[in-house]
Amino acid sequence: MTNKIVIAELTKGTVNASTAELVSAAQAMGGDVTIVVPCTDASVADAVTGYDGVSKVIAVKSDVFAGNDSSGWASALDSAMPAGTVLFLATARSKDVASRLAARRGLSVVQDVVSVDGNNLTSPIYSGKANQTVTVNADTVVSVRANVFPSVESGSSNVVSVVDASGDVKTAVQDVMQRASARLDVSEANIIISGGRGMGSPANFSHLEAVADTIGAAVGASRAAVDTWDEIPHSMQVGQTGKTVNPNLYIAVGISGAIQHLAGMRSSKYIVAINKDADAPIFQHADYGIVATWEEALPVFQNALSSLLG
Ligand SMILES: Cc1cc2nc3c(=O)[nH]c(=O)nc-3n(C[C@H](O)[C@H](O)[C@H](O)COP(=O)(O)OP(=O)(O)OC[C@H]3O[C@@H](n4cnc5c(N)ncnc54)[C@H](O)[C@@H]3O)c2cc1C
Repeated sequence: MTNKIVIAELTKGTVNASTAELVSAAQAMGGDVTIVVPCTDASVADAVTGYDGVSKVIAVKSDVFAGNDSSGWASALDSAMPAGTVLFLATARSKDVASRLAARRGLSVVQDVVSVDGNNLTSPIYSGKANQTVTVNADTVVSVRANVFPSVESGSSNVVSVVDASGDVKTAVQDVMQRASARLDVSEANIIISGGRGMGSPANFSHLEAVADTIGAAVGASRAAVDTWDEIPHSMQVGQTGKTVNPNLYIAVGISGAIQHLAGMRSSKYIVAINKDADAPIFQHADYGIVATWEEALPVFQNALSSLLG
């Protein structure tokens, strides 16, 4: 189990910065690290040539990577990649490709890894209520959560080898719906401020957006908020049936802290809760709690942040 193959995560055709985290996860597992960049244009791979501790960069070119057909992606990657343990970022699309690649290669798959200790891989189970650690003794396909591993340093100048690959396109995607908002997606953010039903109305989310703009955060929501108000898109939902997030800072505003919400955010490094009910369950999981209405707390919070950040 020597080769570690990192599949670069792409966002709108360019390499996502989380790829540097995948490289350090691969290094924690040991062995040579190869980065494979799925692309339609090999110059996309230039973004990773500086990563330290990488022995090879392979740009795998195929038209299939312009679309979202996971089986086509898996087929094209499989035809062009060396053997080894393969690491993907744990996004919905990449986890799908990871499973399909594992099936093609007859490998085990471990999803949502948050910790690596050599051959021991740990990932949350039962909606984050417990962690499981599995020991892998052969090549495996692994997906790794964002914001868990440090980014690898940059300073090298690796050479890119280009491989042409063509996958079988099984699904033709007719249309891709653009993200409802131009805001940062919760699954990519280091800081998230989320609102729940306690915000009272969707218009009041503008107060969360103002804080988000000050500190460079993404805005999330509870399922109650998303289900109650059409203006709050499902893409913002955090939780068991929404997105799993892992930011450094999660600020829950007017959110009670139901188990299904906690399932998506309890692994955040720091949790701040603002809730008018001192008995709200969210306070049992918060590092810092403010018992107040958001109407009282947010303006003070916003002013403090604005003066802190100039
Ligand atoms: C199968 C299943 C899956 C689910 N998946 C998810 C999921 O993915 N994500 C998710 O979030 N939920 C999920 N839920 C729903 C979950 O059980 C809760 O109903 C939901 O999280 C509650 O959302 P909330 O905290 O915004 O609303 P509420 O429970 O209504 O809480 C509102 C909170 O706001 C506080 N509040 C009210 N006014 C103010 C004010 N002015 N200032 C400050 N605080 C105030 C109240 O004290 C209260 O604590 C799921 C449920 C099921 C059954």
